[in-house]
This record gives sequence, C-alpha cells and structure tokens, in this order.
Amino acid sequence: MTTPVPHETLIRGADVVVTMDATRRELKGADVLLRDHRIAAVGPGLSTIGSVIDATGCVVTPGLVNTHHHLYQTLTRAVPGGQDALLFGWLRTLYPIWARMGPQEIRVSALTGLAELALSGCTLSSDHLYMYPNGARLEDTIEAAAEIGLRFHPTRGAMSIGQSQGGLPLDSLVEREADILNDCIRVIDAFHDPRPGAMVRVGVAPCSPFSVSRGLMRDAAVLARDKGVMLHTHLAENDEDIAYSLAQFGCRPGQYAEDLGWTGADVWHAHCVKLDAAEIGLFARSQTGVAHCPCSNCRLGSGIAPVRAMRDAGVKVALGVDGSASNDAGNLIAEARMALLLQRVQNGADAMSAREMLEIATLGGAQVLGRDDCGAIAPGMCADLAIWDVSGLEAAGAWDPVAALLLSGPARVRDLFVNGRGVVRGGRLTSIELPRVIETQNRLARALAG
Ligand SMILES: [Zn+2]
Repeated sequence: MTTPVPHETLIRGADVVVTMDATRRELKGADVLLRDHRIAAVGPGLSTIGSVIDATGCVVTPGLVNTHHHLYQTLTRAVPGGQDALLFGWLRTLYPIWARMGPQEIRVSALTGLAELALSGCTLSSDHLYMYPNGARLEDTIEAAAEIGLRFHPTRGAMSIGQSQGGLPLDSLVEREADILNDCIRVIDAFHDPRPGAMVRVGVAPCSPFSVSRGLMRDAAVLARDKGVMLHTHLAENDEDIAYSLAQFGCRPGQYAEDLGWTGADVWHAHCVKLDAAEIGLFARSQTGVAHCPCSNCRLGSGIAPVRAMRDAGVKVALGVDGSASNDAGNLIAEARMALLLQRVQNGADAMSAREMLEIATLGGAQVLGRDDCGAIAPGMCADLAIWDVSGLEAAGAWDPVAALLLSGPARVRDLFVNGRGVVRGGRLTSIELPRVIETQNRLARALAG
C-alpha cells in the first residue's frame, strides 16, 4: 500500500507574515508551508517537497473575507436613475431592470464580482441572492465560485411582499413563501457542506423586513436552525428603514429581529448603520454578527455605522462590499480602507488602527461567517492567504508595510491561495480568461439597458 504524496507549496521569505493568530504575531522574514488544503507550518527556514514561491518584497496576510454582496448587481453599476437616490428610490429604479435578468446574467455577473474580489485579496465571500427571475437559480452563482476557485457562502435570499401588497419590489420579482422555503431546503440539501474546510456553505436570507412577511422571517429562522445553517438579512440600514419598522411593526429593528428568532451566533445582519445603544448591547449579548458596508452606506447617504461602539461592546463586526449597484466597486481591501477612514471621521484619528481594521477584514469576517478554520495563518487552518507585493509604486517609501496595505496600497494582490490552490498568480486569475468574462458582462449589461 502506498500513501499518496501530499501537495505542498512553500511561500518563502516574506518581508512580513501577518498571522492573525491568538497573539496576533507578525513574523519578519518568515515562510508559510501549505500542505494539501491546510496550512502546515509558519516560521523561518521551512523546507518542502513541493514548489517554492519567493515572497521577498511581499506582505502575506490571511485571505480577506467578504460578508455581504449581491453579485448580480455588477451588471447594474452606475445606472443613471439610481446614482443619486436614497435606498427606497434606488430600489424602485433598479427592480424593473433586475426583473429582466436570467441564469446567464446571474452566472456571468457572479464571475465578474468574484474576480474583482479575488484580485483584491478575498478568499472567502458570501453572497445574498434574493431574486430568481426567468429561471435563475442559486447554483448559477455556486458554479461561478467553483470556476474561479473561491470559498463561497451563498445565501438563498427571497422577497415575498410585492407592490400590490404594500411592499417595495415589483410583483414579478416576488415568490410564494412556500416555494421559497422549499427551494431553501433544496439548495441546503444539495450544496451545504457543514464539515471543516468546506468550500461551500449555504445560508437562508429573506431580503429585508420591508420585502418579506413576519411569518417568512420566523419560518426561515426555524428552518435554518433545523438544518444547522446560518441566517442573514439587511437590518437598520438608514432612517427610512427605522421609520418603516416603527410604522409597520411598532418597534425598532433590533426588537423585530429578536422577536422573530433573528439574533444569535448563527445570524449576521448587513449594514446596522442605525443600531442604537440598546441594540448594540443585544447584538453583543447574543453574539449576532454585523456586515459593515461602508462604501454602500456612503453612496446611498445612509450614514456611518457605529463600528467603534460595536467593537467596544463586543459585537462581531466584519466587512462587506455590498452589491455593485450601490458601491459600485467590489474591491475588498479598498473597502477596508474606507471603513478605517470613516471610523476616524466619526470618532477621531485614534479611533481605529490599520491593524484593527485588517483584523476585521480577515479574522473578523471568518468569525461572523462561523468559520473557526479560516481567517488566520496558523498550522491546521485552511490554506487561504493573500500575498501583497509591497515593492511597487503604491507602497514605495512606506515605513510600515502592514499599515500601508490600508493607508497606501497596493489594492491588488500578487498571488492568492484558496484551499491550497493558486487562484491568482502574478496578478492574474488562473482559471478564467478575464477579458472574455468582461466582454460577455458588457454585452449583457448593454442588452439590459435596451
Ligand atoms: Zn445589501
């Protein structure tokens, strides 16, 4: 009997390895050994039976984690009617365009969004797909993530209250609640992998309190707990959202979430710009996670989420680029920079360090998505990491290359490893022909514009 030879990659001689391990060590002149799908060793002078990658002039970090996106929206960037609108007006402009999409649009837009994330250092992304027009399915995005090679947490979103029932979305974009729950069960059974090292985990994610019923929110929470999957939605995004909650439900969003089973370590909410002190306390006690989406919050004029206050209270906070109709970029390291700067606008120059924000962008994201096997460079963790070339123009003259990742750049990785495999090498995606994806994406966007 022969033992299979393990697949190894040695990343050798990095200027700094930012581990995000238990003591947040930063190792100068260190190596990282990847064996099969895991990190085997970290430290100086390692050797390998496999290939060697020279990382001199580079900073190595854990892969960044994106906890909120609507990948399909890469097809509706910078739409004129939505450029200057608040959330509800923005949605009313875009719903009719989104209703014309189908499976090909969902797949190609996901390839585009995931490519952009990968090149900006992201190894693990969530997605929130809450409409399935013209035969689109969740697996259209799962196939795109597998093609690029990213670790992926798609969520089966949904809308059920259309305009004729007093909701915001077009009637043609909403689904029957029984059909929604049945499709949640179908995609969980088909694609969710609960094991450590999983490449795909599925979540349940009704779109928002203003597009589904209380009954669906409650049923979704029961279903998710029965299946052992996570829950995700939008919450407390702006003042309109709070006013809607008070008028329709007679309570603030935090109370609404708690009443319907939407707090806990298996729940994360996007935005939370308008959480008050009591709601921050609730999220901390219940270990409910937050996906902070600073560029989208700026773009829609929603406000600055109280990240400093949430972190001080013990709330789990992560980053999300949000959909590309309201960002409209999907660069995750740039999102971290924006998050850092906004906390300083809100709370002063000493409110948040670049290192704390880098932690939120990596380890913080893994924690919010329930991944204790991701987010740090330490033996036994998933082999997900980003290699940043700090010898180029953006970081030239930088005294502290780790802080410079957020304060100056670079904003793209040289190499990206996911599950031990090189997804980006030398600044290029290894498994897709990016120019062809861009060409198809632009053709589909022009067709949608009519
Ligand atoms: Zn969103």
